[in-house]
Amino acid sequence: MSHDCLFCKIARHEIPAEIVHEDDEFLAFHDINPAAPVHLLLIPKHHIASLADIAPADHGWLGRMLQLVPGLAADNGCHPMPEGGFRLVANSGTEGGQEIHHLHFHILGGSRPWSNRAAPAA
Ligand code: AMP
Ligand code: ZN
Repeated sequence: MSHDCLFCKIARHEIPAEIVHEDDEFLAFHDINPAAPVHLLLIPKHHIASLADIAPADHGWLGRMLQLVPGLAADNGCHPMPEGGFRLVANSGTEGGQEIHHLHFHILGGSRPWSNRAAPAA
């Protein structure tokens, strides 16, 4: 764990968050500045900076993290598939739009329109 990392601090419950899911490996909570009607962040509890740091030894937990996404979306207000659904975003690196360098998935959903930030036109 990285001691001055914001998401490590949230994972250690040192900083409050609106947590919607917690297990031994992962934490999901509401984004503090939502860009869509539903905007969750899903993180591994251990510190890893981004998808660029994934190695073969990480495939197991990364698969489990991905598998959590549809249930979290459905349980937190995203509408049913296929007319509803959700958007999964993993900003990676500074030019990739990553501001917090602890791997996280943005799970976005709900009725449109969304903010341009969440749903760029291109
Ligand atoms: P990114 O730009 O992909 O690194 O996304 C970081 C996200 O973390 C942004 O959407 C922020 O709104 C969100 N964020 C920052 N601080 C907090 C916090 N204390 N609790 C919840 N979300 C946060
Ligand atoms: Zn961290």
